[in-house]
Amino acid sequence: MIHGARPKQARLRTCPNVLLSVIIFMTKAIVMFSGGLDSVLTAKVLMNEGIDVLGLTFITEFSAIDVPKFTEKIKKRAEAISLKLRIIDISQEFLGLLKDPFYGFGANINPCVDCKIYMLKRAKEIMEKEGYSFIATGEVVGERPMSQRRDTLYVIEKKAGLKGYLLRPLSAKLLNPTVPEETGLINREHLYAISGRSRKPQMELAEKFGISEYAQPAGGCLLTEPAFSSRLKDIIKHDMLNIDNIKLLKFGRHFRLDAKTRFVLGRDEKDNENVLSSAEKNDVILSPKDFNG
Ligand code: SF4
Repeated sequence: MIHGARPKQARLRTCPNVLLSVIIFMTKAIVMFSGGLDSVLTAKVLMNEGIDVLGLTFITEFSAIDVPKFTEKIKKRAEAISLKLRIIDISQEFLGLLKDPFYGFGANINPCVDCKIYMLKRAKEIMEKEGYSFIATGEVVGERPMSQRRDTLYVIEKKAGLKGYLLRPLSAKLLNPTVPEETGLINREHLYAISGRSRKPQMELAEKFGISEYAQPAGGCLLTEPAFSSRLKDIIKHDMLNIDNIKLLKFGRHFRLDAKTRFVLGRDEKDNENVLSSAEKNDVILSPKDFNG
């Protein structure tokens, strides 16, 4: 594992004729950035400690109904705190996680534990290749019933191959010290002990950091929505899982005609446009000839 730090060169003028060069090693870290408040605060906590932070966002077709709009909002959130951002689309690879996730699904068709492990593994590859010292997430102990239980946080860290290198700054004081804390890359005393579902501590921290806009940008993961999940289960069951079909699940009314045929009915002009743009070349498009409807 690489524990790199990017050298930053500073020049100190000691007297008119002598220039002294000093190498300052700046710690580099990756923050898993969703644009939601917890990830914004996490990035801010690290940036305030003088760490060179890269925000890393993994996007999938399930991230929002309107993925391009959602992506723009995430970019704006990053810009608002002067965070460098990298966005990677993992829609195709993500489909494999939906077939038989090792840790199962949450209340809907959300394989949150497997999803986090997968994304962190991808982040770890970047960390090692590009010399980042550790990875941080905005996870808060006890905020979510399945994926943010204390024991699950440790499982995710271990399975992602990041034991000791995954920092959760908002709950760090409730968790085992990590390598960056133990080696002094970050001061544990400057981290937090937030837990539970209440958002009040995060809102207070946001106020302290001067962050005023922090609603989740454009909704949340569609895999946690019951109506979308039920449509998705149907196409998985009938072996029709692909990106174009997922796009179609976001619009219209849906009917299953037989094992091989799903009928999607546009309810308005916008639905119709979306249905048309998501249709594959083998799909059959029906439209009324002499009447509206
Ligand atoms: S809510 Fe969606 S994106 Fe978030 S961890 Fe769960 S499956 Fe992954």
